Amino acid sequence: MARSYYHNLIDPATALRVREVIASAQKVAILCHITPDGDAMGSSLGLYWLLSSLGKNAYVITPDQPTHSLMFLPGANEIVVASRFAEKARNLMLTADAIFCLDFNVLKRIDRCAPFVEESKACKVLVDHHLEPEHFADIIVSHPECSSTSALLYQLIDAMGLERSVSRQGAECIFTGMMTDTGNFSYNSNDPRLYIIIANLLRKGIDKDRLYIKACNTNSPQRLRLCGYAIYEKMQLMPQHQMALITLTREELNKFDYTKGDTEGLVNEPLSIPSVVWSAFLREDEPGFVKISLRSQGNFPVNKICIELFGGGGHLNAAGGEWHGSLQEAVDRLLGSLDAYDCYLPR
Ligand code: 5GP
Ligand code: MN
Repeated sequence: MARSYYHNLIDPATALRVREVIASAQKVAILCHITPDGDAMGSSLGLYWLLSSLGKNAYVITPDQPTHSLMFLPGANEIVVASRFAEKARNLMLTADAIFCLDFNVLKRIDRCAPFVEESKACKVLVDHHLEPEHFADIIVSHPECSSTSALLYQLIDAMGLERSVSRQGAECIFTGMMTDTGNFSYNSNDPRLYIIIANLLRKGIDKDRLYIKACNTNSPQRLRLCGYAIYEKMQLMPQHQMALITLTREELNKFDYTKGDTEGLVNEPLSIPSVVWSAFLREDEPGFVKISLRSQGNFPVNKICIELFGGGGHLNAAGGEWHGSLQEAVDRLLGSLDAYDCYLPR
């Protein structure tokens, strides 16, 4: 009965082509973007479990070490981290029959793995929800209207007629990606299909409450203090631009024993103030290198800002970029351009 809500996003001809790629492949490499988030890890490992249960030799390769907070995902310890095992990662990609590229749209997002993908003769399949994918893959399954690559992957699996091969472990990974890319179903989450998918994943035996705690609500004392400090001491509000800015220097990060992932979600916090339409977080990862994260509500296009000011990209409401230079220069660049984006604020 519930199926009547459920019009799979994937067109059947594309599903058939991907199914044929899987059927004729034995060794499959699965790749996701650098600094993998819950959706990158969840979709990659979700596919890994599916292919493993179909008897394939599947390998997930990440450009760098995933954050500790996602290592609870089943299969995470089997991942080949290219920054540590470059030769192994390259070898896997060159000898694979197929390469699946999940949760990224441009090769730049896989950093050191990009040349291996270009070099490999394997059939390449892109499954992603970012705007404007580059045309490096043989088959492109791109749906920017889908809130997560994990939800897209589930629909692809279903459209291929392989839903019954989704294991509990695979379901845990897919659910985690769906949950993390929608802020635990608090944004981009009005599509009824999502809840049909969740019901199906629950039937596989996942404990969604445990996954929420593991992926979204686990803190170290340092992390909790760092976020408290950032909000209390460092949040600046610019009421005339309806925006908030948080910056953290390397020195401040060191003071709180920062490890990768500790500031995940911090950029969203100012959006809980109703008058804040968009929020920026600039983190000095190294002297001379700043990571930029922007978030917004409604139609305010933070991806445009990231593209224009920081050589980055992303989605309308969640985007990022990089700055090679000092933190102060990055802040000046952003604050110096605020007027130009006021036209996108709600009236
Ligand atoms: P985050 O702020 O969580 O690092 O990234 C949010 C989103 O922005 C990501 O899902 C990704 O789509 C995009 N993004 C982040 N950093 C970059 C970047 O350096 N380049 C591009 N093209 N997109 C980015
Ligand atoms: Mn994603």
